[in-house]
Amino acid sequence: DGSVKHLLMRTGETVVADEYISAMPCDIMKRFVPKNWANLPYFRQIDELEGIPVINLHMWFDRKLKAVDHLCFSRSPLLSVYADMSVTCKEYFDDDASMLELVFAPCSPLAGGNTNWIAKSDEEIIDATMGELARLFPTEIAYDETWPATKKQEGVDGQARLRKYAVVKVPRSVYAAIPGRNKYRPSQTSPIPNFTLAGDWTSQKFLGSMEGAVLGGKLAAEVVANRAKGNPDKPIKEIQQDIIDAAASHVAKEPAGVKGDGAIAR
Ligand SMILES: Cc1cc2nc3c(=O)[nH]c(=O)nc-3n(C[C@H](O)[C@H](O)[C@H](O)COP(=O)(O)OP(=O)(O)OC[C@H]3O[C@@H](n4cnc5c(N)ncnc54)[C@H](O)[C@@H]3O)c2cc1C
Repeated sequence: DGSVKHLLMRTGETVVADEYISAMPCDIMKRFVPKNWANLPYFRQIDELEGIPVINLHMWFDRKLKAVDHLCFSRSPLLSVYADMSVTCKEYFDDDASMLELVFAPCSPLAGGNTNWIAKSDEEIIDATMGELARLFPTEIAYDETWPATKKQEGVDGQARLRKYAVVKVPRSVYAAIPGRNKYRPSQTSPIPNFTLAGDWTSQKFLGSMEGAVLGGKLAAEVVANRAKGNPDKPIKEIQQDIIDAAASHVAKEPAGVKGDGAIAR
């Protein structure tokens, strides 16, 4: 009847439940929509949403930076938000040396950047970041020939040098909040009687964010709780006419699913 019968795990085990909630990101959900749901306009809305790449950087310095003592939004075009974890996070606490964690974004044209940073090497990304940090904190970051972008700091008396680093590339992060996307975010209520969507990209008042993830989850829980009480479902959010028109002629395919043994879809 088109409803969910069970979850089939990688191990071959099946999990049967009264209600099923997907909290997968939109790009993964696209790969799991079953063939017999594929022409439903509700699921075709997801084609209009696409995760943007984001890079997370972990950078350990050889001394304490004095300028960063809480979470900061940056005025740099490359670094959006960062914090000195040696100050802000118990697990990284260190009186003598800073560990900066930074979000490097935008890092693709889709996200509003002009460089496809996600395709660059870790060294190129760290060099660009060191250059930005040297520009933002000229009295703190040393000129270091390992990182040529710090060269403009030559002569300034910054002393801090990078000791080690890690670059974590997230090729599909939050959906691109480009103009006109909000109307395509699906409601948590779906046309499938025992299936509900959650996640920061589903319809709620926040953009893709922690707050959005929490609210999307609460709204999904509300759908299920409401059903458990025997109340009628909240209506499905209005679907745009262009999606309804295109859904009819969409050629349904078997879902791509995820390939390989890892958790990340390829
Ligand atoms: C580097 C970076 C920095 C960020 N900084 C901020 C910030 O400062 N403030 C802020 O508000 N937001 C920030 N965000 C965004 C925030 O992290 C997300 O909006 C939020 O985590 C989304 O939550 P979610 O539960 O919707 O999805 P996710 O947290 O992405 O959870 C989706 C889950 O689905 C699982 N999954 C994937 N594929 C499958 C599968 N095939 N089967 C089963 N499970 C699967 C994943 O493992 C994951 O656990 C940042 C994101 C990134 C990447």
